[in-house]
Amino acid sequence: MAHSVMIIEDEEALALLLKYNLEKEGFEVIWEARGNKALAEVEKHCPSVVLLDWMLPEISGIDILRLIRSKPDIKNIPVIMLTAKGEEEDKIKGLSSGADDYVTKPFSIPELIARIKTNIRRTPDIMAKKELIFEDIRMDLVEKKVFRGNNYIHLGPTEFRLLRMLLEHPGKVFSRENLLRSVWGDNIYVESRTVDVHIRRLRKSLNEFGPDYIRTVRATGYSIDNSIPDDSVEE
Ligand code: CA
Repeated sequence: MAHSVMIIEDEEALALLLKYNLEKEGFEVIWEARGNKALAEVEKHCPSVVLLDWMLPEISGIDILRLIRSKPDIKNIPVIMLTAKGEEEDKIKGLSSGADDYVTKPFSIPELIARIKTNIRRTPDIMAKKELIFEDIRMDLVEKKVFRGNNYIHLGPTEFRLLRMLLEHPGKVFSRENLLRSVWGDNIYVESRTVDVHIRRLRKSLNEFGPDYIRTVRATGYSIDNSIPDDSVEE
């Protein structure tokens, strides 16, 4: 599968030049010029790398970067900031906001391509994974589908994200607050009992085809686990 690069850049000439050169290198390229559409596009395409311009109309690159880092599904995607600002202060601001790399305009295309490749190699394994498996539960991260044995399990988007969190760290106990922040994000007000409602839905869908591996840890939260559920309560 080809690696994909998303270019978030409002200068058309530069974006097209990058697109041409990156496609020649075998990358799939997605270009987005509108800063206010960028986050949704990153979430939709889950690219291997994001090239992010600092100066965009409507919303700055640094704000987009912060939003990317606050979303669990996309927070591990490497982001290379592109900027006309070469000042040390901006570089520090970019890197401390979670940029993986920083390229000052004008830059050489071969150098940028080399940096893209380095950043793809550094990507955590979890991003390279195409599926998550726990016992007979299999989550296909490319198709965004869940199976139990041979049975397809239809999940809503919230249940899917909850299950993904649990499957990424089997045995780890997540607090309701932790799940809230990771699944719903910082900016949305949701009561912690909403987590219980969605866990109940997730259980109902999963347990149609097998035993309950979601463990309720009293006064703490939830985990996915196949050990004896001695402190588990049925909900
Ligand atoms: Ca710009």
